[in-house]
Amino acid sequence: MTDFIREIVEEDLRNGTHKTVVTRFPPEPNGYLHIGHAKSICLNFGVAIEYGGHCNLRFDDTNPEKEEAEYARAIVDDVHWLGFDWGGEPLHASDYFDQLYAWAEHLINAGLAYVDSLSADEIRAHRGTLTEPGKESPYRNRSVEENLDLFRRMRDGALEDGAAVLRAKIDMASPNINLRDPVLYRIKHEDHHRTGGKWCIYPMYDYAHPLSDAIEGITHSLCTLEFEDHRPLYDWLIENVPVPWRPRQYEFARLNLNYTVMSKRKLLRLVTEGHVRGWDDPRMPTIAALRRRGYTPASIRNFAERVGVAKRENVIDVSLLEFSLREDLNLTAPRVMGVLRPLRVVIENFPEGESEEFESPNNPEDASMGTRKVPFSRVVYIERDDFMEDPPKKFFRLAPGREVRLRSAYFVTCTNTIKDDAGNIVELRATYDPATRGGDAPDGRRPKATLHWVSAEHAIDAEVRLYDRLFNVEDPEEGGDFLAHLNPHSLEVIEHAKLEPSVANAPRASRYQFERLGYFCVDRDSSAERLVFNRTATLKDTWAKVSGAAGS
Ligand code: ATP
Ligand code: MG
Repeated sequence: MTDFIREIVEEDLRNGTHKTVVTRFPPEPNGYLHIGHAKSICLNFGVAIEYGGHCNLRFDDTNPEKEEAEYARAIVDDVHWLGFDWGGEPLHASDYFDQLYAWAEHLINAGLAYVDSLSADEIRAHRGTLTEPGKESPYRNRSVEENLDLFRRMRDGALEDGAAVLRAKIDMASPNINLRDPVLYRIKHEDHHRTGGKWCIYPMYDYAHPLSDAIEGITHSLCTLEFEDHRPLYDWLIENVPVPWRPRQYEFARLNLNYTVMSKRKLLRLVTEGHVRGWDDPRMPTIAALRRRGYTPASIRNFAERVGVAKRENVIDVSLLEFSLREDLNLTAPRVMGVLRPLRVVIENFPEGESEEFESPNNPEDASMGTRKVPFSRVVYIERDDFMEDPPKKFFRLAPGREVRLRSAYFVTCTNTIKDDAGNIVELRATYDPATRGGDAPDGRRPKATLHWVSAEHAIDAEVRLYDRLFNVEDPEEGGDFLAHLNPHSLEVIEHAKLEPSVANAPRASRYQFERLGYFCVDRDSSAERLVFNRTATLKDTWAKVSGAAGS
């Protein structure tokens, strides 16, 4: 699939502007990556792979922060898991601090940067608005010597946080506010997780980013549209700093997804305020969460490709993500039977203490996935929902006196309903027809329903976590407090689901289709004693009906 970015790259290669393509993915390690980042990762690494180039993973770690190391590890993991590699160690903007500092002195010497002693508030007040030009700082015309001396004192720790900043000297009247003498360096007496106590001044993103691109020989610096207005500053820096290479920035539309939030600040609140169980809670839109929930790397890459790369922002329906997942798992996930809300059925004409086995295909769409043995005995569990004592017209599943097929096993007929004192159905009695072994009747009769089931004696007990959307409105950010739109039913825990014994030793992260129920994946909370499954997705889009949300 092509798009305007790939067209630009192709043209640059064709006409010799570039011999090879070098891109980068530049996350700030201040949170976990989300599905929006996945779009950017797939684009940057995808372009590099398709045109035989290279993509760097570069941490934009210009902000000294405490938890950076954990986030950095998670980011490395997530990008690898998605199937991409940058060859060797990740790069860091902080590795370039010496060079960036030297270039700042170059700008001062060229009369293109000055130390401003206004406070942050004063700088803001001087900046002007979209309709009014800014006002020049009274410190704007300091001499080169004074600027150099002050900047070195900033670096050496002689000034307090906020006492001064280094600014580019561009144009306080520019219609583009980003060019009104943007701040390049600020004082922060804080240790950095990589450079330790070496620096107490740190470069701003807008300064560090283009120059890091230049240092790394990036040909196409791909970023999201909100940086479009920053491009003139990007180009100004590349023009006025003696860089070894001239990168160019191109902007594409960010991914927006409905029924979720993606800003890291908001995701962090969900975690720290306990609305979810962590960054990788399977309801989160983070890559770590999607992975834990059972998403495959291929399904996310296919999703990114379907969404495409364009110049206009839009909102993508989350059901498109689920569609990409089902498409992949339908081919790759083995089928098993599991009952989430078990109802006992005693088959009275099946001999007590005996059992038999049925050979069941692991994937009817792919014979190469083989078969497995599924045991059958006198007592089976079926899904509570699959029985109704007094069924309405359109209910074709089990009811008193009715015959249904148990998948791959026998036809059974319900003969009696056992209730507790409160009138709740606790058990069914049934008979089976031995002539229907394997699920077909010699006389050709066909029940209207086929149910999944599990032999009670052989079943294993498991916890199953069912997830729904974390928010119950399409745009949780509309109208202020996104937390007001949390879906109170986004997690349902089933303590005692009954599963067929073939899954007993399923390793963590293995994925299955539970017949008729959906796709499920072994959670990392599983132990030798107890399996825990996540429902990755239902078999069909259950929301399409309710919300009218479009599929693909
Ligand atoms: P936030 O605003 O939530 O803090 P961010 O965009 O600042 O996130 P970064 O770590 O700076 O997060 O992002 C790394 C890269 O991923 C950037 O190049 C950014 O443009 C890109 N990116 C971030 N969000 C999206 C998105 N929703 N769709 C596509 N690309 C994105
Ligand atoms: Mg950012």
